[in-house]
Amino acid sequence: MTATRVLVLNSGSSSVKYQLLDMRGGARLAVGLVERIGEETSRLVHTPLLGDAGGKRERTAPIADHGAALKAVAEELAADGLGLDSPQLAAIGHRVVHGGLRFTEPTVIDEEVLAEVERLVPLAPLHNPANITGIRTARALRPDLPQVAVFDTAFHTTMPESAARYAIDTETADKHLIRRYGFHGTSHAYVARETARLLGKAPEDVNVIVLHLGNGASASAVAGGRCVDTSMGLTPLEGLVMGTRSGDIDPAVTFHLMRVAGMSTDDIDVLLNKKSGLVGLCGDNDMREIRRRIDAGDERAQLAFDIYIHRLKKYIGAYYAVLGRVDAIAFTAGVGENAAPVREAAVSGLEELGLALDSGLNAERSDGARLVSTPYARVAVAVVPTDEELEIARQTFALVSENALG
Ligand code: AMP
Repeated sequence: MTATRVLVLNSGSSSVKYQLLDMRGGARLAVGLVERIGEETSRLVHTPLLGDAGGKRERTAPIADHGAALKAVAEELAADGLGLDSPQLAAIGHRVVHGGLRFTEPTVIDEEVLAEVERLVPLAPLHNPANITGIRTARALRPDLPQVAVFDTAFHTTMPESAARYAIDTETADKHLIRRYGFHGTSHAYVARETARLLGKAPEDVNVIVLHLGNGASASAVAGGRCVDTSMGLTPLEGLVMGTRSGDIDPAVTFHLMRVAGMSTDDIDVLLNKKSGLVGLCGDNDMREIRRRIDAGDERAQLAFDIYIHRLKKYIGAYYAVLGRVDAIAFTAGVGENAAPVREAAVSGLEELGLALDSGLNAERSDGARLVSTPYARVAVAVVPTDEELEIARQTFALVSENALG
């Protein structure tokens, strides 16, 4: 196959993030972001990464919609000789948040697939419409090019029913598609595989607890490369304490607030998704700021940190029990990759479970995947920078190459 490039698009409601990769070696050729689409203050930041292409370029003129955004991206890429009309472009890979039960693998997009993603909008009302708009826009620009949807939920579709079902009336659950889907799947898949590589083992031989700790956060239990449990559920609200989301909570809190505080469904949605978690507990959701405040003796920041760690530990323990044998715990995303105190606190006291950090290694800063456990620890602790774009590009390219070979 001579076409070896893949454009990865992650379309949000008012933004598009993109990367162009060459799958011969996985090199990034350009990366960029369009934000505040539809506003007066739209901004496109494009960074070509080819040898002599020059530095970052910025446009600040208003960009009305996703169509205009993608046209502007195409112009920037063309200016670097990387235009969307290039015969070297093999496919466009789209991040799609919700694939429901139907999409268990990356899927070549056609009208029927789009209709199904549309049908799933009630399950991901903020994300799927933006993803659909991105796909339609890209298809209009290059109708002849294979476009592939890579779903955030797909990696979790291997969960057994015992982990995926809520203990509620089965008829109601089935009628309204209520079950645990999980999110961040592309990241969990990538990190679990990279962790096995770091251990010098095949993914099939390794059991890993992956802790994706970004502004959104989720844990997953991965047995031999397959997800057997994950902490996010019907929506990304369940599970760990996050930047602005509560994570696990007694569902009765919602009706209590309706009855006692007169709050509406939307009020409570905003409370639990936007005004809870770290920001709700201490006013900050950035772990760097929280650590600064703790160092200055701030008790609210300390309590927020302690609640965050307590929940994390509970999930480590739970997934240890789910997996039976654990080979590694892998930390990833903004907090997991950078916040040494979070890693230290999360595994401290778990020596009986075979966990022991090397505090020197844990404190070292690095951009690469690495082990931070002591050599004699039974369970390895890994820090693995996630790379969802590379994973989307890999899955997209693998699918179109397979199809081209027939
Ligand atoms: P993400 O959603 O993966 O981009 O992660 C974003 C979050 O990572 C931010 O809200 C911060 O809390 C956290 N973060 C980023 N850099 C650092 C750092 N150097 N130290 C601690 N936390 C960090």
